[in-house]
Amino acid sequence: LRTELLNSEKLKVVSELSSVFAHEIRNPMQVTRGFLQLLDDPELPKSKKEYIKISIEELDRANEIIDDFLTFGKPTVNNNIKVNAGYQMERVINIIQGYSQNHHVKIQTKIEDDCWIDANPQKLNQSLINIMKNAVESMPNGGTVWVTCTATTDGNIEIMIKDQGIGMTKKQQDRLGSPFYSLKENGTGLGMMVSFQIIRSFKGTIKVNSEKGRGTEFIILLPQIFQTK
Ligand code: ADP
Ligand code: MG
Repeated sequence: LRTELLNSEKLKVVSELSSVFAHEIRNPMQVTRGFLQLLDDPELPKSKKEYIKISIEELDRANEIIDDFLTFGKPTVNNNIKVNAGYQMERVINIIQGYSQNHHVKIQTKIEDDCWIDANPQKLNQSLINIMKNAVESMPNGGTVWVTCTATTDGNIEIMIKDQGIGMTKKQQDRLGSPFYSLKENGTGLGMMVSFQIIRSFKGTIKVNSEKGRGTEFIILLPQIFQTK
């Protein structure tokens, strides 16, 4: 109980700190963005204009990543909307593309069109990024991550994220999602906890199949929303 109390206190500090960081990092980025816009002069040669455009786009991307990673400390109000899970998966894959390439990991997808769920898109992305990041990190020598998003016959949307990485023992699987559980040198042990919380807040379930040395598969089930014509 004592460690649990300590952990929940630590967690509070981490989430408060992350909100502060998010804010403090955003400010200088906004200033940089403003000056870049001022640099953008019609007289400039085309190539220089292109550099400015790319810089602004990359700043905007960094901003989105901050949104996805650092805002879990906010109190959770229900602000769910109708979201196309497949579309969000594509966005997440875009965000994580560079990271996976650095790790020599290929991402293979099979994503259906009509995967509508009731969710908060930012939080959904954050939870998927955390899982995909772990999948990439589980393969120190590279490999493939499979990602699928399909509608099941019993009214759910199924998201599967599967790697061929180091895998987990039964014991390790049981600890997954508890705060500060990490086997990584620089791990926070917060990613899975946040992901589980988010999926649960969308009335979804998350299942893990893993085998030491063979790989890990996450299966997320979320209630499907049907289009009303
Ligand atoms: P972190 O990634 O910072 O260590 P997480 O909460 O994201 O924290 O993950 C906790 C631990 O769960 C990881 O350190 C790792 O040991 C294990 N884990 C999570 N996902 C996988 C995976 N796909 N393959 C193998 N181990 C995993
Ligand atoms: Mg992680």
